[in-house]
Amino acid sequence: MTKPIAQIALPVPMRRLFDYSLPEPLRASALPGVRVQVPFGSRRLVGIVVTLKSESDVPTSKLRNITEVLDSEPVLHALHQKWLHWASQYYQHPIGEIYQAALPVSLRKGLPAEQQHIKMWRTLGDEDAAESLKRAPRQKALYQLLKQQPLTDAALKQEFSPQVFKGLEEKSLIECYQSDYEPDTQWFKHLDMGPAPRPNVEQSLAISGINQLYQQFGCVLLEGVTGSGKTEVYLQCIEPLLKSGHQVLILVPEIGLTPQTVQRFERRFGLPVGLLHSGLTDNERLSVWQKARSGELGIIIGTRSAIFTPLARPGMIIVDEEHDHSYKQQDGWRYHARDMAVVRASLENIPLVLGSATPSLESLNNALTGKYRHYLLKQRAGNAEPVKQQMLDVKDQPLKYGLAAGMQDKIAQHLQRGQQVMLFINRRGYAPALICHHCGHVEMCQRCDTSFTLHRRQNKLQCHHCGDAKPLPRACPSCQQPQLTPVGLGTEQLEQGLTELFPEYRAVRIDSDATRGKQKLHQLLEDIQQGDYQLLIGTQILAKGHHFPNVSLVVIVDVDAALFSADYRAAEKLAQLITQVSGRAGRAHVAGELWLQTHNPSHPLLQDLLNNGYQHFARYALSERQFANLPPFSHQALVRAESHDPRQAFEFLSQARTCFADTDGVLLTGPLPALVEKRQGRFRFQLLLQTAKRTGIQQALNRRLPQMESLSLAPKVRWSVDIDPQDF
Ligand code: ADP
Ligand code: ZN
Repeated sequence: MTKPIAQIALPVPMRRLFDYSLPEPLRASALPGVRVQVPFGSRRLVGIVVTLKSESDVPTSKLRNITEVLDSEPVLHALHQKWLHWASQYYQHPIGEIYQAALPVSLRKGLPAEQQHIKMWRTLGDEDAAESLKRAPRQKALYQLLKQQPLTDAALKQEFSPQVFKGLEEKSLIECYQSDYEPDTQWFKHLDMGPAPRPNVEQSLAISGINQLYQQFGCVLLEGVTGSGKTEVYLQCIEPLLKSGHQVLILVPEIGLTPQTVQRFERRFGLPVGLLHSGLTDNERLSVWQKARSGELGIIIGTRSAIFTPLARPGMIIVDEEHDHSYKQQDGWRYHARDMAVVRASLENIPLVLGSATPSLESLNNALTGKYRHYLLKQRAGNAEPVKQQMLDVKDQPLKYGLAAGMQDKIAQHLQRGQQVMLFINRRGYAPALICHHCGHVEMCQRCDTSFTLHRRQNKLQCHHCGDAKPLPRACPSCQQPQLTPVGLGTEQLEQGLTELFPEYRAVRIDSDATRGKQKLHQLLEDIQQGDYQLLIGTQILAKGHHFPNVSLVVIVDVDAALFSADYRAAEKLAQLITQVSGRAGRAHVAGELWLQTHNPSHPLLQDLLNNGYQHFARYALSERQFANLPPFSHQALVRAESHDPRQAFEFLSQARTCFADTDGVLLTGPLPALVEKRQGRFRFQLLLQTAKRTGIQQALNRRLPQMESLSLAPKVRWSVDIDPQDF
C-alpha cells in the first residue's frame, strides 16, 4: 500500500521537517528525493520528499496537500540524503536549508531537472542531393555530414553559420527536430590519451598506494612541496578510474581554477571537463549538474559547492590545496567542503585524496596518527631548485614605500638579469588610513569603527569591512585644512612607488580591485607569463597556484602583523602563505629566493619555518596545539551574536552560557567581543564552546539549542552557530 503522508524538507530556517498529505493521484510518483510544490502559509515553496509514512502527529484534517510532484526521478538519491542528514546533525543546521544548498539554483526554483529534449538536424528525401550543391561548398559539407547520421544543433553550430542551415532548409534538404535527450555515457570507450611523464620514485609510491583503494573508502594526504608533481599524481591515479568508466570530482580553491589546469586534464584524457565555479550562469551550472548525474562527464572540477555534484558512477574525490580557507562557507550553513568530502567518500565507498604543500594541521594530524594514508613528495619535479628563504631585519632602517634600501638593491639586481620580481602585501588600496596633518582627525566608518582605506585610483575612501565608500574629501572634514596625509602602505601605493623607483620596468597590480570582471584576472596572469610585466605586486590572489617560471625573487613586505595576532590559527596561516608564496618563484631553470621584511627576525615561528621548512614547522605547531589543548586536539563551536545595541548581543550570549552551565565536559569562553568588534553598525560578540571529543559538541548543542532558541532575546539579535570555526 502506498503511504498517504510525506515528510518534506522546506527551505525555511527551522530545525524540522513538515508533514503534508499526498492526494491519491500523486502517491505513485512522490518518491523520497523528488521535489514537490507545497503551500506554506500564504506562499508556495519547492521542497523535497524525505520519507513517506502512514501517520502524522498532526490531525489529518489539518494537513495540507502537496500540490505537485516536480520530478519523475529523485534529484537526491538515498546516499546523498543520508549524507545531508549527517551534515544537518553535525553542523546543527536546519535540514531544509541544507537540502536547498545542495541543489543548483534552477532546481531550487522548481525548473525541470531532466535535460528532456535536444535540437537535432537530419536530411530529407532519399536521393543524394550533394551534386546540386557544388556552388555552395559549406552547404554541401553540412549536407554530406548529415547524410551519414543526424547530429545535434549544439555540435554543428560550432562549425557552421546560421546561413548554411537556412540555405539547406529553403531547398527542403534538411530539417530540424526535437529528439529525446540521450546522454553519451560511453565516453570511456574512446579515451584519447595524451603523453604522460614517467613518475619519479616518490610519485610512484603515492600512485600505487592510492590505486590500491579502488572502489573502497580511504583518505590519503598527499603532502608535496609546490611543483613536486602532485597534479601529475592526480592525473595518473585518475587514469585507471576513467578507463573503467568511473567519474572523478576535483575540488580546487576559489581562485585556483586556471584555464591551464583545466587544459591539462582535458589534454591528458581527451575528454571535456565539467567546470563549476562562481562565474557561471544558473543554466550552465544546471547543465554540468545534469551531465555529472547522468554519467556523461568523466571529470568535474569545481570550487566549494561542487562537492554536492551528484555522480552516476563515483570513482574518487580529490581536494586540491586542502588547507585553503575558501573551502569553508562563511555564512548561512557554514560547512567545510573538505570535511563534507570525507563523509561523502566514506558513504560512497570511494577514495578521497587531499593534496597540499602546506596541509592543514587537522589533516596532518590525521595522517600522522594513521587515520589517513600519508605520502610525501619532497623533491620538486623536473630539475627546479628549492627556493632560498631569508629575512631582512628592518629595525631602525629607513623604509621607502615599505622597502629597506637593501631590498631595493636586490630588486634591481633581479630586474637587471631580466627576471621578474613579485612583491606581496596583504592590504589593497593606497593606504589603510587618511590623517589630517593639522588636527589629527582620521576619517572613520561610523558603522564599523575602523578607518576608511584610501583608494587613490578611484579617488575615494572605502571601508574594507562593510564596503561603504565616499568621495575623497579635499579638506579635513573636522578643521577644514587641506593637509590630508595617507598613513600606512597598500598595494596601490607600492605599485606607484615601484614605478617611481624602477621607471624602466613595468609594474602590474593583482588584487581584487585590479581584477574585477570575469576574464580580467586570467588576462593579467597571461600577460605576466608572456613577460609583459617585470614587477608583480599583489595580495593573496597572486599567492595561489599559478606558475610563474621567470619569477626569481619574492618579497613579503611585512610579516609582523600576523606574528602578533589574537587568532591562534594566525601562525599556521602565515606559514602557509610564506610557503605558498615562495613556491611561486624559480620553478623552472631560474634559482629563486624569498625575502621577508620583519622587525622580529628572531621570532621562533619565522626561525623554525625558514630553517626547517613547513613540514617541520607544522609538526612543531601541532605539538603546541596539543599542549594548549586546541584543535585538532579538542573541538570547537562558536556562537556568534550581533545587534545594534551592544548590550543585547552580550546579554543573549550570557544567557546562552547559562544554558550550558550544567553540561559536563564543555569548556565555555566568553561572551567576548569579536576580533572585528563592530561591522555595519552592529556590535559583535561570541561564545566559544570546546569539548575533548568531537561528538561532545553535537551532544551539548542537541540538548541546549532548543533552550537557546526560546530565550527572550533570541528573536532580537542576529545569531548563528559555527562548528569548527576558522575565523574569530
Ligand atoms: P604540483 O601540482 O605539485 O604543483 P605539478 O604536477 O604541476 O606539481 O608538476 C610541476 C611540473 O613538473 C609540471 O610542469 C609537470 O608537468 C612536471 N612534472 C611532474 N611530474 C613529473 C615527472 N615525473 N617527470 C617530469 N616532469 C614532471
Ligand atoms: Zn564600514
